[in-house]
Amino acid sequence: MAATPVPLVDSFGRTHRDLRISVTDRCNFRCTYCMPEAGLTWVARDDVLTFEEIERVARVCVEGFGFDSIRLTGGEPTVRAHLRVLVAKLAALGVDLAMTTNGSGLRAQARGLREAGLDRLNISLDSLRAQRFAALTRRDELDVVLDGIDAALEAGFDPVKLNVVCMQGVNDDEVVDFATFGRERGVEVRFIEFMPLDADHSWSAVQVVPGERIIAAIAAAYPLRPLARGSDPAEIFEYLDGGGRVGAIASVTAPFCARCDRVRLTAEGKLRNCLFSVEETDLRSVLRGGGGDDELSAAISSCVATKGPGHQIGSVTFVQPPRTMSQIGG
Ligand code: SAM
Ligand code: SF4
Repeated sequence: MAATPVPLVDSFGRTHRDLRISVTDRCNFRCTYCMPEAGLTWVARDDVLTFEEIERVARVCVEGFGFDSIRLTGGEPTVRAHLRVLVAKLAALGVDLAMTTNGSGLRAQARGLREAGLDRLNISLDSLRAQRFAALTRRDELDVVLDGIDAALEAGFDPVKLNVVCMQGVNDDEVVDFATFGRERGVEVRFIEFMPLDADHSWSAVQVVPGERIIAAIAAAYPLRPLARGSDPAEIFEYLDGGGRVGAIASVTAPFCARCDRVRLTAEGKLRNCLFSVEETDLRSVLRGGGGDDELSAAISSCVATKGPGHQIGSVTFVQPPRTMSQIGG
């Protein structure tokens, strides 16, 4: 491996620095927009990458290509046994280390994950109403998730961000409630446009609430000003009265593909250059076939080399990937 990292630049000039790692395809929730209630086939345990294999891919990305951020996701990352052991291994690489979670495991794990070196947390929550939460996740656990948010704050995560998938006619009437919740609890709420990665392929454009409309609704209640945008896919705003920040990720109506710096590793070791890829690069066969770091680097490079300009949601050429969001790692 080269002593000095060589930036991983694709054919559109985008430098890749961010690795998303799905640590499991399994989950204790069944969010309607992400997983079917039953019938999803889990990846066999032996086919899921070990912590050592994940660490090796991450090290090649960091030391070989200069990646500076890693996010753990799933499925639900906190259902993977001994997660803090992996966190400690990845934290030792010296990157910004974050995790996206449904929050249900945080009362038990937040402090340990923080101590192991996890820097940041995003917690997903789509309704503040118990019945609606239960209908959306197919689990009656709103209180558990709210307590998980408290546990994250108590463990010292700062900021804690809340991911809210906003869907027309489902939870779009809670936008201002979520803004109020974020202001009161000191968490940064980020509304995400609903994307066609659902289990039953029933997504339709009419279910998407444009980020612009969400921000306008919040600004009418709490005046906002936009903040400068970096490589963050979210457009972030600040409350004029000092009440914190709020954001929108308009992946459908205003995609950030032109600035995308991410690659995704699935639980079974497939590398994807886009959420919406229909092709993947098999790193597990390199890892388990005795391949050296040079071969791993070559496989990662070739995956990024074939990255397209961006997704085509809404166009006639768009093809929804066969995997659900839970199988990709959001
Ligand atoms: N289980 C964890 C969680 O829910 O935070 C991590 C994995 S989940 C797949 C990652 C993120 O993807 C969550 O914030 C979830 O709300 C979001 N997500 C899942 N399906 C989606 C969809 N069809 N459109 C937009 N976001 C989606
Ligand atoms: Fe599980 Fe997260 Fe998907 Fe909900 S969004 S089913 S919590 S993986």
